Amino acid sequence: MLAAPRGFCAGVEKAIKALAWMVRVFDPPVYCYHEIVHNRHVVERFRAQGVIFVDDVDEVPIGAPLMLSAHGSAPAVVESARGREGVVVDAVCPLVTKVHHELKVRSRKGYTVLYIGHAGHEEAVGTMAVAPESVRLLEHGEDLEAMGDLDPTRSPVALLAQTTLSHDEWRGLMEAARQRFPDLWMPNRSDLCFATTNRQAALKAIASESDAVVVIGSANSSNTVALEKVALAGGCPRVLRINEADELPDDLTGTVGVTAGASAPEALVEAVIAR
Ligand code: SF4
Repeated sequence: MLAAPRGFCAGVEKAIKALAWMVRVFDPPVYCYHEIVHNRHVVERFRAQGVIFVDDVDEVPIGAPLMLSAHGSAPAVVESARGREGVVVDAVCPLVTKVHHELKVRSRKGYTVLYIGHAGHEEAVGTMAVAPESVRLLEHGEDLEAMGDLDPTRSPVALLAQTTLSHDEWRGLMEAARQRFPDLWMPNRSDLCFATTNRQAALKAIASESDAVVVIGSANSSNTVALEKVALAGGCPRVLRINEADELPDDLTGTVGVTAGASAPEALVEAVIAR
């Protein structure tokens, strides 16, 4: 059973097209700050075309073309990139930019912002850097207990989130935060992007009928890991995350559900089905 929708979202497609354009237009090497998207297959293909991935824009020679990844970058990184005299293309997904903007506005209004996200994930790091003085990371329930110093009568509290979390994980933390801070401000819709939520809903619909679910995507892809959690929570007894068809085990039996994270190309899905 094949989940639909699955795989590439609009933000990933836009970022990949933009980097492909840079590779065509500029003499190599083209530089990219962080993995353009979190998919090993995609990153290796660009590496083979001469793209150099860096984790520090200071490693980019002055004047060289540079792309900033789809996950969004800290304001200081964007500023430093633009000061290097080369063409800079920021491939940040507009839905991540929206969260940056929400954080900036709430911070200016004097809020303390709880940000549900994963420590160290590039999107979380880039977003929190927008207003580090106002933001607190909320990754586990215990993080709330450690926020005893927060007094909502002195500084109102808001809640934002990384775009690619599992909906259930987000909801659990959101409800715990709302219990602790009853006047919590939240956007009308959660910050989870539509691509994340509709891929999870599609998988939920088939997970309980599957003897095994195969999630195609990389281990460092947040929305891929969220899909694994959704399949397990949906009652599927066996959930496998694989990068490509070669990693499929030989002992799969019964009904197998297949989906792919938002940065996994459809060609990988086709190869898994063929196998
Ligand atoms: Fe944008 Fe969502 Fe895709 Fe991330 S997963 S690139 S936030 S649409």
